[in-house]
Formats: sequence, C-alpha cells, structure tokens
Amino acid sequence: MSPRLDLRNIVKRFGASSVVDDISLTVAAGQITCLLGPSGCGKSTTLRIVAGVERQDAGEIYLDNRLVCGPGTHVPPEQRSIGLMFQDFALFPHLTAAQNVAFGLTGAKAENRARAHDLLERVGLSAFAEKYPHELSGGEQQRVALVRAIAPKPKVMLMDEPFSGLDNRLRDGIRDETLSVLKEEGTAVLLVTHEPDEAMRMADEIALMRDGKIVQRGNPYNIYNAPVDKAAAAFFSDIN
Ligand code: ADP
Ligand code: MG
Repeated sequence: MSPRLDLRNIVKRFGASSVVDDISLTVAAGQITCLLGPSGCGKSTTLRIVAGVERQDAGEIYLDNRLVCGPGTHVPPEQRSIGLMFQDFALFPHLTAAQNVAFGLTGAKAENRARAHDLLERVGLSAFAEKYPHELSGGEQQRVALVRAIAPKPKVMLMDEPFSGLDNRLRDGIRDETLSVLKEEGTAVLLVTHEPDEAMRMADEIALMRDGKIVQRGNPYNIYNAPVDKAAAAFFSDIN
C-alpha cells in the first residue's frame, strides 16, 4: 500500500544552518508516526512545512501520491486536506462546542450537526455540546479541538505537542481517547513531541530526531530497546 504522506529529502535553512536536514519519512493511513526529539531539533519546522505554512528549500511532499510541494509546485495549505492540532489551538469563544466542531464542515446543516454530536459523544462530551469554551476545562477544550480537527476527515493530521499544556493527571486519559478516535477514523498522523513516554504510548513508528536529522526510525519497542547510540539511550533514560 502506498503511503498517505510521503516526505522526501526535506531541507530547510535559516541563514547558514539547516534546521531540517534531509528528512525523509512516510505515514500510512491509520498509522501514527511520531517525530521525537529535544527542543530545537527541527520538529515544528518540519510540521509547518507539511502544513504548507512554511516552505522548504529542497525536497518534495506527496499526499496520496500527489505532489503538493516541490520544485515549481505549492498547493496552498487549505487545499491539502490536513487537520491541525497544537497546544494553543484555540476554539472560537463565541461558538458552542458543537458549533466549533461543525464549523469547517461543508455538508448540509443537519448532517454537520450529527457529525459534531457523534464525535463529541466519542470523546465523552455529549453533555457539553451546547456549552461555550469558557465553560469547559482545559482537558475538555482539548478534546473539542481534537474532534474539530478530525471532523472534516482530513487525510493527514498534524499534531504539535498537543498535550503539553495539560496537567499529568489528565494527560494519559486524553492521550488514550485521542488515540482511539484517530484509529477509528483511519487518519494518518504525524505527531510531534519531545517526551519519550508520549511517543512510546502513541506511536506505531518513531522517528528520532537530532540537529535536523532523523537518527533512528523504528517501532517504539525497537527504539527503546536498541537505541542507535549513547545519546539516544540517554534521551530515553528518564522515561518512567
Ligand atoms: P522544535 O520544534 O524541535 O523545538 P523548531 O523546528 O521549532 O524545533 O526549531 C528548530 C530550529 O530552527 C531552532 O534552532 C529554531 O530557533 C530555528 N528556527 C525556527 N524557526 C525559525 C525562523 N523562522 N527563523 C530562524 N530560525 C528559526
Ligand atoms: Mg516545536
């Protein structure tokens, strides 16, 4: 099966330094690939390039075998069928939870409402559908943001440290819910995190990054048990 998302030899320079230095990776439908690495290694820049809000200096991006960004081609972000979820991706304050989720949908009104309510139910928020963001806790808002991003059935979901604003007590539960919704929808996910335990918990495949490069790729078990070098081992050592 060909990959949903295919990055080939992506390079991004700021001044003289390559902050993304020849990154290649693929994500299949229904798969979660995690870009894992310390702060400043180029994860967010890579994600912004895939989203189309930043442009690479070299390399190509394919979505379902279609070139969306490369020499001479730049499909604008809104035409890429990409969902975004960031830590501070705010909900519209003047819309209810259900209206937030239905906001970007292009179907008939009743159909959009049904989709919104179904998704809210799947993250345990049926009772909150008519509430406004300020009436929701941080964790509840984050779940609304998740299903809002998923509602239009994007081909690819890009998530940049989406849970880092939540306290530890809530985080595990929301990670698990997120995982199950993404799997049910069959979305291809590129998840960025600097936390090894998050990658271990959520990823089908981990791409370990350092200084703009992918230094190791594999499933969580292999990455954890057979780190490529001492620095990779040390990065995982404070996992609990
Ligand atoms: P990460 O998400 O892994 O923490 P980033 O992709 O945000 O890393 O940043 C990678 C490197 O690129 C950092 O050194 C950062 O300072 C630099 N960088 C990011 N965006 C810009 C920019 N617009 N101009 C100059 N340098 C940038
Ligand atoms: Mg970042």
